[in-house]
Amino acid sequence: QGSSGARTTMVAQPPTKPAEAEVAPSSPVSSTGWSPATWRNREARQMPKYDDPALVTEVEDILAKQAPLVFAGECRELMADLSKATRGEAFVLMGGDCAESFSEFKVDDVRDTFRSILQMSLVMTYGGSVPVVKIGRAAGQFAKPRSEDFETINGQTLPSYRGDIVNGLEFTEVARRNDPYRMLSAYHQSAQTINLLRAFSSGGFADINKLNAWNMDFVQNTPEGSKYREMASKIEDTLRFMTAIGVDTTSAPFRTTSFYTAHEALLLSYEQALTREDSLTGKFYDCSAHMLWIGERTRQLDGSHIEFLRGVSNPIGIKISQKCPPEELVEILETVNPDNKAGRVTLITRMSSKYLEEHLPKLILAVQKAGLNVLWVSDPVHGNTIKTDSGYKTRRMEDIRSELRTFFDVHQRMGTHAGGIHIEMTGKDVTECTGGDVDEVTEENLKQRYLTQCDPRLNGKQSLELAFHIANRLRR
Ligand code: PEP
Ligand code: MN
Repeated sequence: QGSSGARTTMVAQPPTKPAEAEVAPSSPVSSTGWSPATWRNREARQMPKYDDPALVTEVEDILAKQAPLVFAGECRELMADLSKATRGEAFVLMGGDCAESFSEFKVDDVRDTFRSILQMSLVMTYGGSVPVVKIGRAAGQFAKPRSEDFETINGQTLPSYRGDIVNGLEFTEVARRNDPYRMLSAYHQSAQTINLLRAFSSGGFADINKLNAWNMDFVQNTPEGSKYREMASKIEDTLRFMTAIGVDTTSAPFRTTSFYTAHEALLLSYEQALTREDSLTGKFYDCSAHMLWIGERTRQLDGSHIEFLRGVSNPIGIKISQKCPPEELVEILETVNPDNKAGRVTLITRMSSKYLEEHLPKLILAVQKAGLNVLWVSDPVHGNTIKTDSGYKTRRMEDIRSELRTFFDVHQRMGTHAGGIHIEMTGKDVTECTGGDVDEVTEENLKQRYLTQCDPRLNGKQSLELAFHIANRLRR
């Protein structure tokens, strides 16, 4: 296995730009002029400023000695799965919290989100007859880009919350101070989370013969639940049939599943410190997650984030709104994937149905004309965030469904593959997004269980409802 040999001892750099010559000798600058530290010579947008750079260096040194959270060989397996999705032979499901939280970390919540993703994937696989590549927005999704550097509440102005890996959500001066030691807490929580996810996916929980154990309360007594139960019972029949004709349904493909992790590669001190040279291939992998993505706010061609991600060999994602001109997209793709490898780049469009209808065809044409391999995935949530009169950030199911519908329609028209979905969701019964066929959440109800650290998430029922819609589209 291409596990990370950690041959490289990262000599951490202060967060402000050292010259390229200062790059650690053990991280040689490659022929493409890249090393894990070259992002430091570029403009790093959305990154926290710390009072004491020496403390940041200390934390980076500690992180560089920690175990990798994922292994290079696993990243290559994901790359192969994503290249299947690029060809239309699989569908990708990425889901999880907008931001993970230190204080709200609970084993049961990790399990419930995992179970929701498993249920959605079952609905899509069975309904759409297509394998589903499951990727959790988890075990490292801690850093948040913000539109405003400061926030004012009742006349008091404090720095914005940038995710638990940077500062605290509480609106106090102490909590909002950037603390580099938070990177260590984020690493350790990520290690616990990925350990749980590995256990859930291979330790028996994902055994398809135990479908009933995945059923959450809501599956018992809701219309979505009865559709799901009906499907589960057909699968059980099929399994009995397979056993009868001699198929071993206790073998690994029936008992285990692949589950990958991803997060936004925003805090590059953290990402660099977890980047290791793979002993098998000599390539660099960011071992903080299988897949890393760059957000809409940090995808500038001359910026630090593109520079960092272009050199790691993981599969990467790029979030795209209507603000990205087609020519710029092509330049980004040529920069991060000069070998045009299928599975390397996932483009995650997020712009609302209205902009998608206008803009997606232009993006697709430009990519087609340049002959580039990309996987198209829809994030139907980030372009549809609104604020209610009472001040809650929310999203409406009908807007989310509408963006998804447009995503499928445009790809169908253009002859390209609608390859996956990226959503903010939880297995918990929260009231953060409105709408839904079952137990509709109204604006008035939002306050009941509005628990998110950052953006509003779909709850378990809303997520499952979306999975049934997608399955219907995949069947066509
Ligand atoms: C996110 O995924 O939480 C996010 C901030 O997305 P975007 O970069 O697309 O706004
Ligand atoms: Mn978000």
